[in-house]
Amino acid sequence: MPKLDLILIALEASTTSKLMERALSAHYQTALATDVKSLNRTLQESTPALLLVGETFDGQDGIKIAEDVLERFPTLPFLIYTDKAKPELIRSIFRIGVSGFLAPPLKTDEIVDIVENSLKHAHRIGDWLRREVKRTTSSLKKRAQISEAERTRLETIFNSIHDSVMILDEDNWVVLVNPAMCLTFGLSAEDAIGRPVLDVLTQPDLVALLKLPPVQNTLRYHEISFPDGRVGSAQLTPIPEIGLALTMFDITDLKEMDRIRSELVHTVSHDLRSPLTSVIGYTELIERAGPLNDNQREFLKRIQESVQHITSLINDLLELGSVEAGLDTRREYVQLDVILNYTLEMLQGQIKAKHIKVQTQITPALPALRANPVRLRQVLDNVVGNAIKYSSDQGEVSISLRAEDSQVIVQVTDNGPGIPVKDQAHIFDKFYRGSNISSHAGSGLGLAIVKSIVEAHQGRMWVESMVGRGSSFFIVLPVLTDPPQLAKK
Ligand code: ADP
Repeated sequence: MPKLDLILIALEASTTSKLMERALSAHYQTALATDVKSLNRTLQESTPALLLVGETFDGQDGIKIAEDVLERFPTLPFLIYTDKAKPELIRSIFRIGVSGFLAPPLKTDEIVDIVENSLKHAHRIGDWLRREVKRTTSSLKKRAQISEAERTRLETIFNSIHDSVMILDEDNWVVLVNPAMCLTFGLSAEDAIGRPVLDVLTQPDLVALLKLPPVQNTLRYHEISFPDGRVGSAQLTPIPEIGLALTMFDITDLKEMDRIRSELVHTVSHDLRSPLTSVIGYTELIERAGPLNDNQREFLKRIQESVQHITSLINDLLELGSVEAGLDTRREYVQLDVILNYTLEMLQGQIKAKHIKVQTQITPALPALRANPVRLRQVLDNVVGNAIKYSSDQGEVSISLRAEDSQVIVQVTDNGPGIPVKDQAHIFDKFYRGSNISSHAGSGLGLAIVKSIVEAHQGRMWVESMVGRGSSFFIVLPVLTDPPQLAKK
């Protein structure tokens, strides 16, 4: 026999409670609670199918009791018994979502009917709820299956990438690493994941890249040299809300091509220098050979200017070639602030002509560098020279030399035209000129030479710039420990 629904009657003992119990017990199981304590206990211990509560029960407001119970059992059908169906009571009953009410005169059939209808209504809601829960659960399961398939697909793609990839979280801990990265650096993914990146990667060039200060909108990248001669290009790219992607691809072939190209340029430049020297020599002799008219003198002047221009270009190329070839081995203890003074002296003419305001900020007792003073002079001449060349009249240039963590940091800032973001990664390449400075003459070799010199001194350089605002060039050069104290000039 199927189990009968349990009707819980919460009415104080009276003829009404007896009538209710009698009327309902023919069709249902019934339980009587005569105070709030026994009502709560029965609610805890059994699962009534319907609750019938008096308008006042155990000295408390039945509506309030209904609100409390519905808070705990929102789907429980609920009837209120009242002596008199006053309109405000009926309004409160519907406001709190009670199923209905019973009021005298009461006939047995009517009591059973009302209870029966409330139960049917509750069963319909219960069935609908169960169907909805089932539908939502199966759609969630389907979605979970799709995202699992998606995850596997992404994992396969990530693991098949030929370049090395490592994903770091915002605290620089390893989140993901692909097999190419593991192979290149001899790592095991299981050991690497969940550890600080600097505990996992010890290759010095990579460590230097990871320690570069983050700068908005500026790519952080480095060449990574391996003992077997291979060269990689590594980049750090921010990933919003995740952290960083460290990627590296092999550029050994590109470097080799670059070396061959440089060698060719070097040879050609070298071979061109002697004939050019003769051209210059003979143009100087022409005037001595006999009188020239004004036109001839003007043409001769133009030839001389052009040949000077080609000669200085060739000198730059030869210079670059010898720095790149590692021929520059001269090292002395050098005070960069002294060199800066010579640079500023040389540029005085241009500074005055353009009314540029130059400010310098130099840390007292700047440590000496172990460097080639001639090359460092070239570095400062170029970078400070560019700041002045590209600044407009009455521009402002500030130069700072400071010492930090056994490094000397040179910063040259101007409020000139700035460098477009798309050019920033290329301005250190040979012959590359920015797209916004066509009105200034130049060969595009200066910064390539500077970068080669800085790197030959184990230093790093980079630029931060915003079009229309200006540029800051940074050069970081290492200080060797315990240099002898040089007397300052
Ligand atoms: P050049 O000055 O002969 O063009 P460089 O190698 O010195 O060559 O500089 C390369 C490019 O970098 C320049 O053409 C210019 O676009 C950009 N650049 C360098 N310094 C500055 C600066 N201070 N302000 C704006 N652009 C600069």
